[in-house]
Amino acid sequence: MGEPKDKDRLLAENFLDSSALTVKLYPDPALKIPAAPVENFDDSLRVLTGKMRAVMDTFQGVGLAAPQVGISKRIAIVAHEDLFYVLINPRLVDQDGEQDGDEGCLSFPDIFVPVKRPMRVKVAAADESGREIVHEVDDFIARAFLHEMDHLDGTLLIDRVSPLKREMIRKKMKKRGRKGK
Ligand SMILES: [Zn+2]
Repeated sequence: MGEPKDKDRLLAENFLDSSALTVKLYPDPALKIPAAPVENFDDSLRVLTGKMRAVMDTFQGVGLAAPQVGISKRIAIVAHEDLFYVLINPRLVDQDGEQDGDEGCLSFPDIFVPVKRPMRVKVAAADESGREIVHEVDDFIARAFLHEMDHLDGTLLIDRVSPLKREMIRKKMKKRGRKGK
């Protein structure tokens, strides 16, 4: 029902009303849904990214994507040391090199697995005002950008590892779910 814009407004009202956001854990189906582009750049976006930042800081994360808090929109944040990035409708423009390293995810608590990523990326994304910025980042931040951008397509850490590791993660998360944590 209604135009996409109405849906955006509804979402916006929800951001303003709801207090804290909660992080969806694997295998929550919300994590697998490809997110829709942001079309309205209004005040609610800043409210949402502020809330996302609060959640990310609480769990000491370095990045968080809107689908992880149950909002199916192409919005992600990344923080590292003094740097803070808001990525809205991000797209990969260029990539170069390769890096190996362990990756974690707030939707997979206490799990760290090696994932190969490009060493350098160029990512174009809008900020909260709708202005497009091209970010050129490398190393850890490049990894964080790509991890969060994966979330916007419904791609998870578990989709980036070997079948053996995938099974290990699945079992670990299942056990965690049974304990009700
Ligand atoms: Zn993640």
